[in-house]
Amino acid sequence: MRLVLLGPPGAGKGTQAKWLVERYGIPQLSTGDMLREAVAKGTEVGRQAKAVMERGELVSDAIINAIVEERLAQPDCARGFVLDGFPRTVAQAEALDAMLAARGQKLDAVIELRVDVEALVERIAGRFACAKCGAGYHDRFKRPKVEGVCDVCGSTEFTRRKDDNPEAVRTRLQAYEAQTAPLLPYYRARGLLRTVDGMAPIEAVTAAIGRVLAEIGG
Ligand code: ADP
Ligand code: ADP
Ligand code: ZN
Repeated sequence: MRLVLLGPPGAGKGTQAKWLVERYGIPQLSTGDMLREAVAKGTEVGRQAKAVMERGELVSDAIINAIVEERLAQPDCARGFVLDGFPRTVAQAEALDAMLAARGQKLDAVIELRVDVEALVERIAGRFACAKCGAGYHDRFKRPKVEGVCDVCGSTEFTRRKDDNPEAVRTRLQAYEAQTAPLLPYYRARGLLRTVDGMAPIEAVTAAIGRVLAEIGG
């Protein structure tokens, strides 16, 4: 399965990608996670991306495409992958098509998670993650089973993203509308777009994605 999860910040891409990883045994390729790791490590890419990310703007296509190309070349991507947060511009989508074509591969589906803007703001405001394993949580919608303890790894440390503040969120939503929403017609024209109602509870969205993938033979 070669999948793209498409949707605005806070739509639930990371949450659903985690399930797809388990269901299909394919890696999650989150450009946001890769960039945050580069920032934490203080690599050259991290130094270039840090301030841009904090403002909520998009990192340049050249940087992002290079990161993805390198990642796709790794052996664990041979059986497929779920892209989360990439592509985000038409230029990135074209670069992805070229990278896959060079390997004789193509995408199986692009799954759009459609969520109202008010819900996005609420989801982002309540988002936090395990500091150790990265498992995602929400103050209202997905609390750890035991208060203050990560369900997955048992850690008691959690973090909130620096760019999950109202000003950066506004910029990110604008970036989505201006630069990423044009990918919807791009993939619709290629017969790849499948839209799922992302307003439903987490498990219901997962089930809807499962139905879409069953339709395409996944
Ligand atoms: P994205 O990767 O698209 O930015 P996340 O998967 O990080 O989004 O989800 C944003 C926040 O909303 C997280 O705190 C997550 O727990 C929560 N969330 C995800 N999907 C849903 C849903 N269907 N209903 C309610 N909350 C959700
Ligand atoms: P969210 O899903 O909540 O918007 P991500 O974790 O996907 O957040 O991305 C966080 C930030 O990383 C973005 O606001 C942007 O600055 C940068 N980023 C991630 N992926 C890309 C991409 N494909 N192109 C450009 N910038 C990106
Ligand atoms: Zn954890």
